[in-house]
Amino acid sequence: MSELILFWHRRDLRISDNTGLATARSQSPKVVGVFCLDRNILERDDIAPVRVTYMIGCLQALQERYAQIGSQLLILHADPMQAIPALAEALNAKAVFWNWDVEPYSQIRDRNIIDALKEKGIQFLNENWDQILHSPAEIRTGSNAPYTVYTPFWKNWISKPKLPPVETLQTLEGLTPGEQEIAQNAGAIPLPTAKDLGFIWDGDLILPPGEASAQARLAEFTYKPITQYQEQRNFPATDGTSQLSAALKFGAIGIRTVWQATTEAQENSRSEETTNSIRTWQQELAWREFYQHAMYSFPELAEGAYRDAFKNFPWETNDTHFQAWCEGKTGYPIVDAAMRQLNESGWMHNRCRMIVASFLTKDLLISPQLGEKYFMQKLIDGDLSANNGGWQWSASSGMDPKPLRIFNPASQAQKFDPDGEYIRRWLPELRSLDNEYLVTGKITPLERRAVGYPEPIVDHKQRQQQFKQRYQQQKEIIR
Ligand SMILES: Cc1cc2nc3c(=O)[nH]c(=O)nc-3n(C[C@H](O)[C@H](O)[C@H](O)COP(=O)(O)OP(=O)(O)OC[C@H]3O[C@@H](n4cnc5c(N)ncnc54)[C@H](O)[C@@H]3O)c2cc1C
Repeated sequence: MSELILFWHRRDLRISDNTGLATARSQSPKVVGVFCLDRNILERDDIAPVRVTYMIGCLQALQERYAQIGSQLLILHADPMQAIPALAEALNAKAVFWNWDVEPYSQIRDRNIIDALKEKGIQFLNENWDQILHSPAEIRTGSNAPYTVYTPFWKNWISKPKLPPVETLQTLEGLTPGEQEIAQNAGAIPLPTAKDLGFIWDGDLILPPGEASAQARLAEFTYKPITQYQEQRNFPATDGTSQLSAALKFGAIGIRTVWQATTEAQENSRSEETTNSIRTWQQELAWREFYQHAMYSFPELAEGAYRDAFKNFPWETNDTHFQAWCEGKTGYPIVDAAMRQLNESGWMHNRCRMIVASFLTKDLLISPQLGEKYFMQKLIDGDLSANNGGWQWSASSGMDPKPLRIFNPASQAQKFDPDGEYIRRWLPELRSLDNEYLVTGKITPLERRAVGYPEPIVDHKQRQQQFKQRYQQQKEIIR
């Protein structure tokens, strides 16, 4: 058997601060990367072209990084359950290493691959937790259960020491030309474009793909915007957030690197306000981990509501309303602006994600699962744990202890887009309207007709009453 270790990249599309890759390198100088364009994932109907475009860009950057340090990143386009063990066998690899992932599909896929590798007598190592700072086993309640409420999770999580970034690899030994031919015969292909795979995205990307861009964005964000995050993060017209979500989803940046940048910013902080702002951003990173732990411990979350009152909730089936929501034609300016931002840019500001999710579930009374899927079809950062967590939170069906949270679109716009800047940016047809009407949504039917903007498709007051009634009924049924 050769000294070769195959390192299987999944959500860790980088060389630096990669725990599993560093472990592989510590066991052999000959480490070759592999990424499988997983047919089981790419053939699903919730894949966003913008996300695939970003991912392919990250893979291209990663191939360049491997070449710089003397090795290769092989690309497969197949079912990894067959293709990964077959490639390892063909190359006579001594082991396949990869980093752990929390999603239910990954658990099944990885178990199958472990079985196949064992059968072929190839070693494996899958125990590195790379994309989160603490594994689910580390953050448990006093009675050794997973947390279901964020605040105590955060208290425990922040109290634990965090590892520094792992050392960046400088050199690797790659495949010989003969081995490269063997890899090709075992299915390795040149990296296709997103278009080759049938995913067409002609717009810009909110963050350029790859390790270097993610690091540059982190440096830029932690230099200044992080110090004003607490105040700025709620205003969708402002670039007050990091826009690092796609990089974190695909692991174009290591979470330990991100954490270190926040602690350095803390050290440089000269005011309580700055320190609080940085702490608020750290809390967002903890939300990300909270939802990943939740998905790992309660995989049934991926299938639907966590709370009993929502397991058989009488959601409405109304294609016309759903389409109007998807297209940003509900007649509620802040909702429509947000949906157009999503459709046109592949990203949506967090405040607006909450507003549109509340609107779909509490005003249109449409199942959060439809919204969750639509988000996955459109978001550059679409991620099962975070998206499911966000939707369950907004629908009140999740772990959040607050029973009912209903957002009033008009008051949200008045508070968070007081000058109508965000609405005007994404709804050009409303640009000429007075601010007051824009943010309150009190646009007359005449004005709506004149600019070609629809009437509100539902009445917010009426619908929230209906939602509350249905919720009370459900609570009585399950009592
Ligand atoms: C209905 C709904 C759906 C969502 N779907 C996704 C999704 O598919 N993918 C995704 O990454 N985030 C999702 N979020 C969370 C959040 O909206 C985005 O992470 C954030 O807007 C990304 O922008 P940013 O990178 O500028 O965030 P920042 O404000 O700079 O936050 C830093 C990082 O922390 C993490 N983060 C921040 N807020 C949350 C949160 N509430 N939950 C989990 N992680 C968080 C993200 O990784 C983010 O990049 C969703 C939220 C809601 C309400």
